[in-house]
This record gives sequence, C-alpha cells and structure tokens, in this order.
Amino acid sequence: MAREIKLKTKTIKKKKYVYDYCKCPKCYTESPRRSKGKRELNDLGLEVPVVIEVTYSKHYCPICEEYFNAPIPIADPGSHFTVRVKEKVMGSIVQDGMPIERVSERMFRDFNVCVSPATIWSWIQQGGEKNPVAERVRAMGFGAV
Ligand SMILES: [Zn+2]
Repeated sequence: MAREIKLKTKTIKKKKYVYDYCKCPKCYTESPRRSKGKRELNDLGLEVPVVIEVTYSKHYCPICEEYFNAPIPIADPGSHFTVRVKEKVMGSIVQDGMPIERVSERMFRDFNVCVSPATIWSWIQQGGEKNPVAERVRAMGFGAV
C-alpha cells in the first residue's frame, strides 16, 4: 500500500486579551492602554495543527513610567506554545515516564505540534529547585536537570 503524504492545513483560532486599563505588575496602578500587540501560539491539534493568534493590549504605567503587556492566561511569557501543550508534554514525562525524544515525536504525531527536545529540556529546567516537575524528573533519574 502506497504511503499517502497529505499536506495538512492549519486551523487558526483568534483570542483577544485587550483591556482599556490593566494593573501594572510592579505597583498595581490601573494603567491605560497605549497600543496592541499580536502573538502566535501553537496549540494541541487532533486533526490539523492549531495556531492561536492572540491580540493583547500594551499599557503604560504613569508611576513606573514603563510599558507592559496585558497578561495572556493561556501561555507563559515569551512562550510559543499554549500552557495546554506544556502540560501535555510534562504529563507525558512525569506520569507516563516517556523519554524526551519520544515525547517530542509523540506531540507531533498525536497533536500536530512541533516541540523540540531542546524546548522540552528548557521547560523541565524552568523554575529550578522550586519546580515540582523538575523535582520529579530529577527523582526519576533523567540526569542533571
Ligand atoms: Zn507601575
């Protein structure tokens, strides 16, 4: 049977975290919106890759005289993936005891999302000593984390 190679189209979902005012993360002053930004996040996709296009507001705190972005609850700061992807990856490692390379392959095969082993390593290392996932991975003998 010939192996069929299909080009999968991706699904783009849109989410908005745009507010007129947002509390400054440093001094909690209600700060007005100055502009908007956009970020693309890779999410879990069962049939096709799913990308969430997030629009968020950018605010200016008059007390700190600094700009900051409204929080995006579905992703960690700077991440290209939703927290759902991260949780699935960490679950595969901690609950299913899968090696990192296989988790990376599994995420692509089952959820149409490319998470490199390097990214998975960085997630494990995040939070260091206080990170319960890193604690458990260390305890399972996955080497120096
Ligand atoms: Zn402030």
